[in-house]
Amino acid sequence: MKTIIYNAQIKQPNQWINNGCIQIEDGFILAISSQTPDEKLISSFDQVIDAKGMALLPGLVNGHTHFSQTFMRGLAGGRPLLQWLKELIWPLQAEISVQEMQLAALLGLAENVRCGVTEVVNHHKITRSRQHTLAVKEAAEKIGIRTTIARAWANKGKINETDQQIMEELEEWYTVFHSDALTKFASGPLTPWRCSAELLQKTHQLSLNHNSFTHIHVSETAEEVQMTVEETGMRPVHWLDQIGVLDDHTQVVHAVWVDDSEIELLAKKKATVVHCPVSNAVLGSGVAPVRKMLNQDVNLRLGTDGPASNDTQDCFENMKMALCLARATFLDANNLSNQHVLDMAVNHQTLSIGAKADLILVKMNNLHSAPVHDLDSALTLCSRGDDVDTVMVEGKIVLQNGKLTTIDEEVLLKECNLAINSLRKRAGISI
Ligand SMILES: [Zn+2]
Repeated sequence: MKTIIYNAQIKQPNQWINNGCIQIEDGFILAISSQTPDEKLISSFDQVIDAKGMALLPGLVNGHTHFSQTFMRGLAGGRPLLQWLKELIWPLQAEISVQEMQLAALLGLAENVRCGVTEVVNHHKITRSRQHTLAVKEAAEKIGIRTTIARAWANKGKINETDQQIMEELEEWYTVFHSDALTKFASGPLTPWRCSAELLQKTHQLSLNHNSFTHIHVSETAEEVQMTVEETGMRPVHWLDQIGVLDDHTQVVHAVWVDDSEIELLAKKKATVVHCPVSNAVLGSGVAPVRKMLNQDVNLRLGTDGPASNDTQDCFENMKMALCLARATFLDANNLSNQHVLDMAVNHQTLSIGAKADLILVKMNNLHSAPVHDLDSALTLCSRGDDVDTVMVEGKIVLQNGKLTTIDEEVLLKECNLAINSLRKRAGISI
């Protein structure tokens, strides 16, 4: 399959190409140019897209979400993290069936595609049966974007599994998922205070053996930091380092309450930090010191977190919130640049010859964006998820003219609305 996209504003490192053209063949970028193709060249392609009035950029990467929570939006109701988990999220999670899990995952994936995401990490919490995990895998394969299922686990506290069960299941899933497929697998310990050092070490080693990673919530609230300090005598990032679970295959989600020495360590060990500004604001958790992390060259990306604490997965809204919170909190309009935030949102990927064709087209000629003086600014402060026109993953279009190509959106919404009414009743949640 050969595709040509022309008349586009194409994002390149530190600049934009005006009226550019990009050629794609068998899932890879074949050529990028600033010239308008002639009729003869255009007619030699199977698929032709005139991108007039649109920005063409690498696909957005949603570094952290929980698909099960697409059924739990709008329920935080002013509760802080731990109260919200105990009163609402855990009871609903305990009731969700395999079919409901699949619908919730389809809804979450469809929403991600709709706002320009080509790659997502789903921290998968509904693990009481293998069928629940399989349901998410099938949903991801149906929607067709790059998805890593980071299988959540905890072996301390009320809700837990035995170490043997956790290891056996992780080993099993690593053999079922293939490293060259769009849907991949990772270990997802929930938090340092709910996981033992010994099992964190074992699962991290297992992930390294499969060239995967450990994906873990760390220091989302000050209360959590205190809990780890009381138990181990160390702050969470230091503790993870001391037990050997902090390296370039570690994804630290949140890192709101990290001190300067922890930031230095995150940079030194080349760990990835997933910044979730909207979720941290909704739950009143705080604002991560992103500028300090950038100063130390910490590898940073953005995540929406689950819709129960966001309450959408709109990565454009997430970019705007990242900018606004940083600037307001640190009283500095230059604290974060539009370009920094856009680069974090695309996970520092670039459109280059030979790269996989994971890209999106965003409509810029609309009432809330025009006139566009600066594309970095317009995309991070004006654009919305609904402005995404086209999403392509490895050369295959999964959103075209704003419509999902792999699933019927109306049917999905109908099925999800029916399912959530039943789930809420069974979990005893009244609103
Ligand atoms: Zn989370």
